[in-house]
Amino acid sequence: MSLEHRSINKPNSSRDSRVMPLAGMARSNPDVTIEYVRQIIFSLHKDTKLWQAKLTDALVQVLGAAVAALGNQVASVWQMNKRGSEMYCIAQYELGIGEVEPSGMFLRDDYPAFFHSVMESRVLGIEDCLDDIRTVDLVKPYLAPHGINALMVSTIRREGQVFGAVMLEQLGETRAWSSVEKELGSAISELINQVMLVCELRKQNQLLGLLNSIANESGLKHSPDKLAQLGMMKLSQLFPDAWAGFYKIYDNRETAKLVCLVGKEIPELARSAIEEIPIKDGFIRTVTELGEIFVIPDCETWADSVHLPIVDIALGVGIRSITSIPLKSGGEVLGFIQLWSHQKIYNLEVDYEGYKAIATTFTVDYANAVNLERLQNQAHLDSLTGLYNRERLQLDIERSEEDESNLLLLIELKDFKQVNDTLGRISGDRMLASIASRLSDVAEDYPGATAYRLHGAEFCLLVTEDGDKDCGELLANEIHDCISVPIEVSGLDIMLRPVIGIARSPQHGKDGNELLKSADVALGWAKKADRGISVYEPNQDNLRPGNLELLTELREAINRDEIELYYQPQMDLITGELMACEALLRWRHKKYGLIEPDVFVRVAESGDLIRTLTAWVARHAISQISIFKLMGINIPVTLNVSARDIVDKDFPLQIKALLEEFGVGPSDLRLEVTEDTLMANPERAMEVISDFRHLGLEFDIDDFGMGYSSVSYLRKVPLNSIKIDNSFIMGVTRDERNKAIIRSIVGLAHGLGAKVIAEAVEDEETASTLRALGCDVGQGFHFVRPLSAAEFISRVDQWVV
Ligand code: C2E
Ligand code: CA
Ligand code: CA
Repeated sequence: MSLEHRSINKPNSSRDSRVMPLAGMARSNPDVTIEYVRQIIFSLHKDTKLWQAKLTDALVQVLGAAVAALGNQVASVWQMNKRGSEMYCIAQYELGIGEVEPSGMFLRDDYPAFFHSVMESRVLGIEDCLDDIRTVDLVKPYLAPHGINALMVSTIRREGQVFGAVMLEQLGETRAWSSVEKELGSAISELINQVMLVCELRKQNQLLGLLNSIANESGLKHSPDKLAQLGMMKLSQLFPDAWAGFYKIYDNRETAKLVCLVGKEIPELARSAIEEIPIKDGFIRTVTELGEIFVIPDCETWADSVHLPIVDIALGVGIRSITSIPLKSGGEVLGFIQLWSHQKIYNLEVDYEGYKAIATTFTVDYANAVNLERLQNQAHLDSLTGLYNRERLQLDIERSEEDESNLLLLIELKDFKQVNDTLGRISGDRMLASIASRLSDVAEDYPGATAYRLHGAEFCLLVTEDGDKDCGELLANEIHDCISVPIEVSGLDIMLRPVIGIARSPQHGKDGNELLKSADVALGWAKKADRGISVYEPNQDNLRPGNLELLTELREAINRDEIELYYQPQMDLITGELMACEALLRWRHKKYGLIEPDVFVRVAESGDLIRTLTAWVARHAISQISIFKLMGINIPVTLNVSARDIVDKDFPLQIKALLEEFGVGPSDLRLEVTEDTLMANPERAMEVISDFRHLGLEFDIDDFGMGYSSVSYLRKVPLNSIKIDNSFIMGVTRDERNKAIIRSIVGLAHGLGAKVIAEAVEDEETASTLRALGCDVGQGFHFVRPLSAAEFISRVDQWVV
């Protein structure tokens, strides 16, 4: 490093105002005896605080003791560079003030006589330094302006070389230094040498520890950015006065960008001021092109001599020195560490070695991480969408710290399969790509968020690091809205609806697999949720479809009649007349309490048990119908039918047998099938449906509006009613779009000769809106909740029959 400027000691502010007139000669202090000197040095030696203090504090303490003993005014410690060509003041003490900010630098070329004398002696006692051949060069620029009349310089030596000096100044009068006083000076400089050594050792030790711990943060475990963050955190412990920043060099090699900045009390303003710096200018070029360490020891003096924007910026945010340490690997500078310190730097050479060690250690790991990331990026991209893939997700979850929490949103496009089948692969792929870009836009707005495509129409968003982990539902809503915007494909506006399962680590899963599994469970639940969003709850897991334990329990529950049918009335929206009722299953579980049918019906559907369950429901409902009839309640009861049932050729025969057994007519029973159920296997379903038609049974299409059943198909079904899916009903009073949809469903249904039933009518306002929209029948909490058979019978008188 070269200091291009020749700044001589800046006049020391405190001394300027205290220049004293020449007035006689100071006596040597008679109290300073050899005993006294020994006593002072000994008491400093055994002061444990001194040996533990920061370097400057320790030096000032020793200097203070020297001034107190000698009765002079100023004492300072100077450090010499290795070539012996420069001396810097590194600590200064003044009588009546104490610690004074050290300033000043002597160059041998300017003061050859003085340098020569210092180099040659152990202690230099100059009685009248304004009139002495050894200090003649110093008079004008230094001694006279500061009013220094006598000077003692005691050298600090290491391995025979002059390493520095302690300077003791007498202001206002000359002074003949006694030999005992010179001994004291010498003892002080020796003590200072030891103090400095101890501090250096301590620093070396810390540095070693740092290097060790950086080396332990293997580049194979962390991403380059994460590694940089960890490294800077450790550096900032070693340099508590500094902010440790890591800069990555942009591909265009014009600017460097701050990856992370670690340190105490960093104002946001400072961070943004140094976030991006040009690398073609000034010293940064030396760092990034030549790969050399560069130090600006004092921005103040530099600002005077060279004009560099970065130095002005640094000064503006209270930074005094800048150290740039490049990370060079295979001839390429990957980036650099920049220490922005609030202190100026004196101890140049010592730190150099340290910086080099830091750079070397850190570079190996960083380069590893960068290379690995480059390779992985190629292997971890989804070629269709450009998003990261499943392997990468796994890795990113594993990479995050153990105690760090992650937020995972698993996203599935509900209707994608049908779209793909109808419009073809090419359109399907285009839709996936456009959904992907919407997702990555959302991810960009959330700190720490990344978007992935797992496979098919399954995506995911992972929030790690400094991202907000409580934003799950907010984020899910945003994703929901952005995906639900129709996409134009071959002139058609197609709307895809997402279902989103949310899980959080470590609560919902400690590793990537567990977390994904939990999110998947939540996703299953999301499919049944209003807005298609569900946050994982541990209880969900027990009730997971395919959960064998639950399957066994359900089988036993059916055998022991621990399940029960509830009946929910359906009312004519205009007359208020009771038109029908829907049979809904309930399971009173010993451990989980009342389990929703959604859950266990799905569990049953995942195996063969659904047939048993349906058979149970059919038998109980049909026997109930016969009881209702006996009590004069002549309304049809509707049964919910699963996908398995509607392709089962035996199912119509079973129903026929039950109707005969209980003496119930076909018009007393209706079957509810969802569009999805029908469309799972439309041809087989139609065969079964036509058997039912021959029996004289009618169907209600459940959850209408969510699937893709075609009108030509529905035409062939003996339709009684179409039940509008509750997602269109909830909020219909405010949502114009839902109103429009309902209006068109009403048109379609009436066109097919079917009635329209609105589900989930929760209040009068909804009921009257639906009435106005042309719906015929309403079902929901507004009228009455599902009731047990006994309750139903006891309340039937309240309703108009
Ligand atoms: P679903 O066929 O759509 O049944 C309507 C659901 O809406 C019922 O939920 C009912 O309790 C609920 N509901 C009624 N009024 C309101 C209201 O005003 N607001 C809201 N938010 N909800 C209302 P439930 O009883 O939990 O049944 C859930 C689903 O389980 C049913 O949906 C059906 O798909 C299935 N399910 C129920 N019983 C059976 C069954 O016996 N067999 C089969 N295969 N599935 C069944
Ligand atoms: Ca139903
Ligand atoms: Ca429904």
